[in-house]
Amino acid sequence: MKLVKLHDLYFKEFISAEEISTIVASLAEQVQNDLPKKEVPFFIGILNGCFVFTADFLRQYKGDCEMSFVKLASYEGTTSTEKVKNLIGLNEDLTDRTVVILEDIIDTGTTLQEIYEIFKTKNIKELKIATLFYKPDVYRKELPINYVGKSIEDKFIVGYGLDYKGYGRNLPAIYQLTTQPKMKNIVLFGPPGAGKGTQAEVLKEKYNLVHISTGEVFRFNIKNETELGLLAKTYMDAGDLVPDEVTINMLKEEVNKNADAAGFIFDGFPRTQSQAEALDAFLAEKGERINGMVALEVPEDLLVERLLERGKTSGRTDDTDESKIRNRFNEYNTKTAVLKDFYEAQGNYYGVNGVGSIEDITQRLSEVFDTL
Ligand code: AMP
Repeated sequence: MKLVKLHDLYFKEFISAEEISTIVASLAEQVQNDLPKKEVPFFIGILNGCFVFTADFLRQYKGDCEMSFVKLASYEGTTSTEKVKNLIGLNEDLTDRTVVILEDIIDTGTTLQEIYEIFKTKNIKELKIATLFYKPDVYRKELPINYVGKSIEDKFIVGYGLDYKGYGRNLPAIYQLTTQPKMKNIVLFGPPGAGKGTQAEVLKEKYNLVHISTGEVFRFNIKNETELGLLAKTYMDAGDLVPDEVTINMLKEEVNKNADAAGFIFDGFPRTQSQAEALDAFLAEKGERINGMVALEVPEDLLVERLLERGKTSGRTDDTDESKIRNRFNEYNTKTAVLKDFYEAQGNYYGVNGVGSIEDITQRLSEVFDTL
């Protein structure tokens, strides 16, 4: 996605230049069809934001018309302020004229109210309002708006004449405020025994990422007999998943402990659809996202063999008992495997062959990490 940076903020494209020109052309046509045949409207553009829109609108308006710009600024920074300045620049006599105000955007309606007040005193025939964009969610007035190009949600926008602290007026499209992600966050995925922990240890060094293994955090808590450990133990001993709420809260805490991290390798999390959704929402609040799910693909028979082998030295009871191992696979197949579809739908799933030497697999994973 194309981002533009204006001062300290990042913006992403929201309405393309092509779409804007369609909207403007249809707005001009609407106004023309609505006015009496011989009427010569007097268009008034409210500077500064409307200068691009006014220029394009005028070229789409096919009948006779006159125009002027006036100034009545109300924006400072990214929020609409209540203070509206006086009108400057109107020298024409508008007596008995049909005046059509051209606004780039109407949000709270404060400026619009000011316009209505001002034109009440000008002995005009009729006042009509045409706005390119309109934010219905924040409009607080009862005043009529006659022509609306497009209604949009309440997001700060720039481009096509609209600015952020003076910048961005020259962008041909409309851009919406976003935040630029700073982290590289990767979900290292795969069934129990796929080699996630082993690979994460190598990759975290190579890519300067913080490795969070939820299984490790639980085992640490069990060892230290914390409240969380006691709670998790019964589930883990049986090879069941620990309840989502407990796991999600724990994960958030681990992430928040590492606020300065360049990114994370999530190992063993998410393991359910609701964990994946919670992770997305949690990262989005921080202006971050998952760059990709990288999955180690290994056949199940080989996994059981690996786990039993690991059980000889790992001290993990859930690695030594084949029925517990089977239950972990069952949990994986019924609750976790679906996450492949979840990330695939986001265009974020990368499968990697997890059979081979540790070094070969690291190499394959690195090739994917490098692209994320
Ligand atoms: P692991 O070390 O990733 O194999 O995890 C060992 C055990 O910890 C699992 O069998 C679960 O009981 C528990 N666990 C680890 N991560 C999660 C998670 N994301 N959701 C639920 N339970 C988890």
